[in-house]
Amino acid sequence: MKDQLIECKRCGGNACYEQHINETTTTWMCMGCGFTSSTMMLEGSKLVADLLETSPELHKDLLITDDTNHVWDPATFTIPAKGMVFTDGTSKEDWKWSAVKAIPITEEDRKLKQYPKDQTHRMDMPNAKLFDKSDFMDALEVIGFYDIY
Ligand SMILES: [Zn+2]
Repeated sequence: MKDQLIECKRCGGNACYEQHINETTTTWMCMGCGFTSSTMMLEGSKLVADLLETSPELHKDLLITDDTNHVWDPATFTIPAKGMVFTDGTSKEDWKWSAVKAIPITEEDRKLKQYPKDQTHRMDMPNAKLFDKSDFMDALEVIGFYDIY
């Protein structure tokens, strides 16, 4: 079994990364639209019900079921000590990708706020950059995704 790029069942783009976790589980992460799903994310399943219960309102709005009954959820993409990309907005008509860089925690920061001793970076929220729905890949670039993968 190997990982491959397939056509995205959500957006139809060709940059959907398919990963076989084990014999029964496959996950999909689309680099084109930034949404993710898996063979376990079936409409009506407990997993999806739990997701609905714990997700922010915006995530719930953005959930979409493809024609094979799999539910797609917007990704929250974190690279430790680099940054994160996540959805930011108020409704499915009005949202963007937010890319936030991780910056080192300084002595000064530690005076203002308690950070766990082994935490070296924090998210630089005030300097978040916003990207259009279709620009997920540009958002990933901000956090250095392409330096790693
Ligand atoms: Zn897609």
